[in-house]
Amino acid sequence: MSYDDNNIFAKILRGELPCEKVLENDYALAFNDIAPQAPIHILVIPKRPYESASQFSQNAADQELVAFQRLVGEVVSLKEIHDGGYRLISNTNRNGHQEVPHYHVHVLGGRDLGRMVF
Ligand code: AMP
Repeated sequence: MSYDDNNIFAKILRGELPCEKVLENDYALAFNDIAPQAPIHILVIPKRPYESASQFSQNAADQELVAFQRLVGEVVSLKEIHDGGYRLISNTNRNGHQEVPHYHVHVLGGRDLGRMVF
């Protein structure tokens, strides 16, 4: 599979589509999900093109990996969801029901999220 440059998140990164930005750093962007499934539902994406968690973890430079993980943590801190609890989800490909083929982590919190797989 090759990266699809026309996916929605690529367009957001190029400034062709708007987003509700929450935080960013040199290598990653966090913005509100357009169809939130919880009171806090934020997507964290790398700024460079990767389709999935495994492609990102295997191909990204060390500083990208660090910056991405730091931004996830900063989102959790900013939204104060650590103590109440939260969930990170990264859907991948068909079985994972991935809709947007640009790697992203969903940060969900602000309510009881139920059991892990449903
Ligand atoms: P996934 O199934 O993990 O690929 O989920 C993609 C997520 O992107 C869904 O939760 C959508 O609601 C969200 N989404 C799609 N388009 C946008 C957009 N323009 N801005 C913010 N979130 C979006």
